[in-house]
Amino acid sequence: MSGDPTIFEQIIAGDIPARIVYETETVAAFLDANPLAPGHTLVVPKEPYERLDEMPGDVAADLWAAVQELAPRIEAAVDADATTVGVNNGEAAGQEVPHVHVHVVPRFEGDGGGPIHAVAGDRPDLSEDELDDIADSIESGE
Ligand code: 5GP
Repeated sequence: MSGDPTIFEQIIAGDIPARIVYETETVAAFLDANPLAPGHTLVVPKEPYERLDEMPGDVAADLWAAVQELAPRIEAAVDADATTVGVNNGEAAGQEVPHVHVHVVPRFEGDGGGPIHAVAGDRPDLSEDELDDIADSIESGE
């Protein structure tokens, strides 16, 4: 959280134009400049945390509350059947703007898109032991 302001901070400050659709003390949302679908919206904390784990819990709660409130509003605005909600959490996952943002992408029956399952590469073939090790490591946080 240092250095030049991120694009999203500049939007929040009013220095870059954007169609802001939601704003509270801690969270803002605006239409994506290169939408994957009509109504594609980005929901961001106002502070430029780069990764999910850097956000304090109360800010994360505010962010998710905004997503929950906005998803049905976005669907209604563009008459969508559903939304895909996702975060590119880190460069290797496709994060280009180093400021946490939740993509809310309206989805339509037969739109040709895929589920979240389509984002990863080749599926791993994991043994029971490997699955146990991974689960243990996540559970213990080590
Ligand atoms: P990422 O790949 O980091 O998850 O997604 C960044 C998103 O920010 C992209 O969907 C991109 O279209 C959007 N974006 C990048 N620059 C701007 C901008 O200046 N204004 C708006 N509204 N969206 C932007």
